[in-house]
Amino acid sequence: MIDTHCHLDLLKEEDLRDTLQDKSLEYLLTIGYDRKTIKNALKLSQENPQVFCAIGFHPHEADRVKEEDFEWLKTLAKENPKVKALGEMGLDFYKDYSDRKKQEEVFRRQIALARELGLPIVVHSREAEEETLRVLKEEKAYEVGGVMHCFTGSYQFMKACADLGFYISYSGIITYPNAQKLREVVKRTPTYRLLIETDAPFLAPQPVRGKPNKPTYLRYVAEAVAQLIPNTSFDDVDRMTSENAKLLFNLLCDGRKDTVTYVINNKLYINLTNKCNLHCTFCQRERERNFMVKGYWVWVSRDPSVEEVIREIGDPSRYEEVVFCGYGEPTLRFSALKDIARWVKERGGRIRVDTNGLMFTFLPKERLKELKGLVDVWSVSLNAPDKETYNKVCRPAEEGAFEKVLEFIKEAVREGFKVVATAVDYEGVDMKRTEELAKSLGADFRGRIYESVG
Ligand code: SF4
Ligand SMILES: [Zn+2]
Ligand SMILES: [Zn+2]
Repeated sequence: MIDTHCHLDLLKEEDLRDTLQDKSLEYLLTIGYDRKTIKNALKLSQENPQVFCAIGFHPHEADRVKEEDFEWLKTLAKENPKVKALGEMGLDFYKDYSDRKKQEEVFRRQIALARELGLPIVVHSREAEEETLRVLKEEKAYEVGGVMHCFTGSYQFMKACADLGFYISYSGIITYPNAQKLREVVKRTPTYRLLIETDAPFLAPQPVRGKPNKPTYLRYVAEAVAQLIPNTSFDDVDRMTSENAKLLFNLLCDGRKDTVTYVINNKLYINLTNKCNLHCTFCQRERERNFMVKGYWVWVSRDPSVEEVIREIGDPSRYEEVVFCGYGEPTLRFSALKDIARWVKERGGRIRVDTNGLMFTFLPKERLKELKGLVDVWSVSLNAPDKETYNKVCRPAEEGAFEKVLEFIKEAVREGFKVVATAVDYEGVDMKRTEELAKSLGADFRGRIYESVG
């Protein structure tokens, strides 16, 4: 199991020892929430192979956070590979230990930093559902994703967070007799968004309530989840929450080598990231982490570095085409994409980028120009003839996503790129009209077959 939220530095000495010796805990994410605990979290993660950390400033700390603290946080996160997330951060309008305005500001600043660093966030939200959602959306936190830790909110809040691509983490609170309402929310949480945590030394689960909590009690949380989710055993909960955690926090797992590049039919595909800012109904990566594409396991457990990709490519001119592919959105790693594309181009390769066309939702239009002379073809997932269908099929996190795709296609055509708009032949999608729309934007069109994954 993976305890996705604990404060190891606050445990009693013997509880820490038990925890680090417990073989049922594959990984632990210890959380630093102020200057002191951040240092502790780093130290613990450096000393123990199974410990990773998240570092950030808790909303309770907001009043004390100074400008230089953000710079400090950034440097630490950049320099320490065991930092897997920023946080905990967020809003706490229950205790109100810090000024609300200041809480929001510190929250926003840290989301921006997480996006800059490409790290997911750990969110603490109490009695501030609406405000938390608003900030997450406005700051485009879904580009890096994250977890709503120690979730105790409403069904609507859970759903909105899950739809935004956030994970929902439950703690020992779900075992408390008076948490009936919360248990109903657990039942309805999508299993691919589910995580578990202890928040130790706080919130000991019911069977050990009153004692200081420790990560070895995580099994009580897992047991409770197994009882709530239909047709699900303890082992199922263990496996799915562990895989979800590995995915979210990019924890190196099972030793299987990541498929960073792969060749199909003399085309070389580059697997730049599995992160995506859409979640299309038909997308395999949305429901299945371990999926194969023509004999390749294409899930990458972390984003490969530019150097790593280049090393694997070798001589790009051997291939008909070098493709930045779409099991994840390559433009999310714009600068890596650009660096690799330049390297490939200089060695005579031909480049295609498969994209969902949402680049303008997070980068200014002008940035597209930087890829001129590097990208030969854009293959853009249009997938619908109109906004209504698009929202249904592609489920964007943001209003106006469809318009952004159209804008992207037009702009790319205008800049002189070859653009092919694509659509998956999916129920409810009028392929003919989608093709007409593509053509009207100056793009070519290619229909794609929908392969059911069961
Ligand atoms: S854009 Fe591609 S990778 Fe992203 S959710 Fe849709 S199908 Fe999946
Ligand atoms: Zn918290
Ligand atoms: Zn915490």
